[in-house]
Amino acid sequence: MLALEPVSRAAAPRTVVTTILIVCGDCAGDALFPLKTLLTSDGTCSRCGGRSYVLAAKLSGALVRHLRKGDAES
Ligand SMILES: [Zn+2]
Repeated sequence: MLALEPVSRAAAPRTVVTTILIVCGDCAGDALFPLKTLLTSDGTCSRCGGRSYVLAAKLSGALVRHLRKGDAES
């Protein structure tokens, strides 16, 4: 599932964009369904390089649970 290449070559570390979708805190926007971007192999947003993000799968799971409950539970 992970499409990571080894990045242990210290001399020339290459940033590889993975197939993992994230919701970036910096460029996702604040819509109900935020913009999803891709995670890079060094743990940053592929769009803006930000490090504040949550995994999209995690977020959508939480959203689904929230919608199924039908009421806000903060
Ligand atoms: Zn971003």
